[in-house]
Amino acid sequence: MTAEVISGKELAGTIRETLKTETASLKEKGIVPGLAVLLVGDDPASASYVRGKEKACIEAGITSEVQRLEASITEETLLNKIEELNRAAHIHGILVQLPLPSHISEDKVIEAVSPKKDVDGFHPVNVGNMVLGRQAFLSCTPYGIIEMLRSKNLSLEGKHAVVVGRSNIVGKPVAQLLLRENATVTCCHSRTRDLKQHTRQADILIAAAGMQEFISADHIKDGAVVIDVGIHRKEDGSLTGDVLFEEASKKASYITPVPGGVGPMTITMLLSNTVESAKRTMSRV
Ligand code: NAD
Repeated sequence: MTAEVISGKELAGTIRETLKTETASLKEKGIVPGLAVLLVGDDPASASYVRGKEKACIEAGITSEVQRLEASITEETLLNKIEELNRAAHIHGILVQLPLPSHISEDKVIEAVSPKKDVDGFHPVNVGNMVLGRQAFLSCTPYGIIEMLRSKNLSLEGKHAVVVGRSNIVGKPVAQLLLRENATVTCCHSRTRDLKQHTRQADILIAAAGMQEFISADHIKDGAVVIDVGIHRKEDGSLTGDVLFEEASKKASYITPVPGGVGPMTITMLLSNTVESAKRTMSRV
C-alpha cells in the first residue's frame, strides 16, 4: 500500500481563497479584519514565523499590525499594550508570539488577551469552551489537523485515535477535538510505557512529540491515517517531521508530509479565526 498524501499546502490554499472572498465581502460592509501581532525580542525563528503570518494576512485581505518590542520590555508594559489592543475596535485578533523572555509570565500574557480576540485559542476561557463543546476559538494547529481529516471525508466516529504528545498547544487540544468528533482517544506522552503497543492500535495516529523521525513503520497499523505535526531542521537544512515519511507511507492509508502538511494549515486557521472574529463583531452590532 502507498499512502495518499494529505497536502496541507493545497488545502490551505483553498481555504485562503475562501477567506479572501469573505474579507472582500466584509470590506463592502466597512469591516477590515485586523490582526495585531506582538513580537518580543529578536529570536530569529519567532521573527520568521511572524513574517510568515504578516504575509499570509496581507494576501488574505487582513490588516496585520506587528509591534516589534525590545526583549527588555517589562511585563507591565506588555500587559498594558495588550489591554490597548483589547479596546481597539479595528483589531479583531491578538497574537503574542511565544516564547517570551523568562522575566515575563506567559500565563499572565495569555490571560490578558480578551477571549473574544484570542485567535490563537490559548486563553483558558477558549480552552474551557472547546472542552465543553461550546463556541470557542480553536487552537490553530489542532484545528488545522481536524480540517485536514475532514477534507478527505475521513469519518472519525468510533475510530481509535492515538495522540503522541500532550502539550497545551497541540497534544491536549487535538485529543479533545478528536473526542468531540466521537473518536476513542488515547493520549501518550513521555512517561507512557511501551509506546508502540498504543500506536499500533491507532486508526488515526497524531505524531506531536517533537522528536525527529522517531515514528517508524513499526509504530503504525496497516491502513492507519498518520498526521505528522513535528517540524525539525536536518543538518542539510531540509525539514522533516516526527515520522519517517518514506517507510510510514508504505503502511499508512493517508499521511501528511513535512513540509507542506500541518504547518501551512496552522497559519491558515489563524487567518480563519481572525476573519471569524471580525464576523462576530458584526453580529454584536
Ligand atoms: P512540546 O515539546 O511542548 O511537547 C512534546 C510532547 O511530546 C510532550 O507532551 C511530551 O510528553 C511528549 N513526548 C516527548 N517525548 C516523547 C516520547 N518519547 N514518547 C511519547 N511522548 C513523548 O512540543 P509541541 O509544542 O507540542 O510541539 C510538538 C512538535 O510539533 C514540535 O516538533 C513542534 O516544532 C511541532 N509543531 C508544529 C506546528 C505546526 O504548525 N506544524 C505547531 C506547533 C508545534
